[in-house]
Amino acid sequence: MSTIKELTRLCHKIAKEKGFWDEKRNLGEMLMLVVTELSEAMESYRIQDKKNFNEEIADSFIRLFDLCGGLKIDIEKEIRKKMFKNKARPYKHGKIC
Ligand SMILES: [Mg+2]
Repeated sequence: MSTIKELTRLCHKIAKEKGFWDEKRNLGEMLMLVVTELSEAMESYRIQDKKNFNEEIADSFIRLFDLCGGLKIDIEKEIRKKMFKNKARPYKHGKIC
């Protein structure tokens, strides 16, 4: 079974092997490439292509894990920390609607 930490390490390793880290990366561009994958997921959903929808969601995570690997972010720790913080928030995070 893979942990998020292992997936992060592997996604970044593969991206490096494929040359995506040969030059300095542009953080804004990397973030927008995640948005691009989510847009592709939205389009797949719109045309009811469930198989491609799943793949585009996977692409989104792969890009995020690669980014986290490159920036040396322990995203598993950060997710757990934020989930714990969210759990302590009020119902619907205190919003009326
Ligand atoms: Mg894609």
